[in-house]
Amino acid sequence: MSDDLSLRGKRAVVTGASRGIGRAIALALAEAGADVAVSARTKSELDELAEMIHAMGRRAIAVACDVTDPQQVAVHLAGGVLGEFGGIDILVNNAGASGSAKFVGHPDELWHRMLAMNMTSVYYVSKAFAPAMIAQRSGRIITIASIAARVGAKYIAAYTAAKHGALGLVRALAVELLPYNITVNAICPGYVDTPMTQANIANMVQRTGMSEQQARESLERMSPQQRLITPEEVARVAVFLAQDAAASITGQAINVDGGAIMS
Ligand code: NDP
Repeated sequence: MSDDLSLRGKRAVVTGASRGIGRAIALALAEAGADVAVSARTKSELDELAEMIHAMGRRAIAVACDVTDPQQVAVHLAGGVLGEFGGIDILVNNAGASGSAKFVGHPDELWHRMLAMNMTSVYYVSKAFAPAMIAQRSGRIITIASIAARVGAKYIAAYTAAKHGALGLVRALAVELLPYNITVNAICPGYVDTPMTQANIANMVQRTGMSEQQARESLERMSPQQRLITPEEVARVAVFLAQDAAASITGQAINVDGGAIMS
């Protein structure tokens, strides 16, 4: 791999890494040469992943952290990763959660939970790692947003508002951190084949009486490609954004959605 494509010697942290998109990104970063800290709330699910990354010849650590808790983010996540790796080159804000409800009678609890999980967590984690990147005058911050950061859709008002907010934060940080050679970008996937989407399908089955197959096909039909995105397709874009070759790409939102939206 040429120098500007290899991530050898780079240190990465991925939130929400125990399954789905985050797990695929962690493995793809390691495959490209990076040392990787993997984080989520459930440590047991992370240990096996850290062992896999270690077996690829990279340094790997597993850190239990709830990204909605600023104390845990500052002390356990940033403290643990920076202490172990001695710095950080790539931050992937991937942890997130979906939830749906009609707007009339929308539960306030869902509103606050969606904003905490999908927007404020990106603020806490980026704030915790930015000083180390600023000190070394380089870094990559990659946030997994969603096409819900680009367009509206019914029954997901809180998730949509949170993902739009996360993208706003990405754009503001891109400008503010530019002088320090730090790029800040978002990836906006359509429906990806992960446990989150499985849960969404189960929810649709329960609410509408559709079969699981029908519910899955209705999500597939939302993409012109008539299929779900794979976690690995999202991971490849994250690896690209992390590479030296992507040094001039910042403040961008890259859709990985099979052409579902084109703006
Ligand atoms: P999954 O539900 O499959 O995985 C979510 C990951 O986040 C798990 O590792 C989970 O581990 C972790 N997590 C959940 N809550 C917290 C928390 N409070 N603190 C720390 N970690 C947490 O999700 P996906 O892989 O599908 O999604 C990943 C990201 O991609 C999310 O931001 C999502 O919004 C976004 N996205 C997903 C799409 C899809 O169709 N799946 C489409 C577009 C965007 P644990 O529970 O142990 O904490």
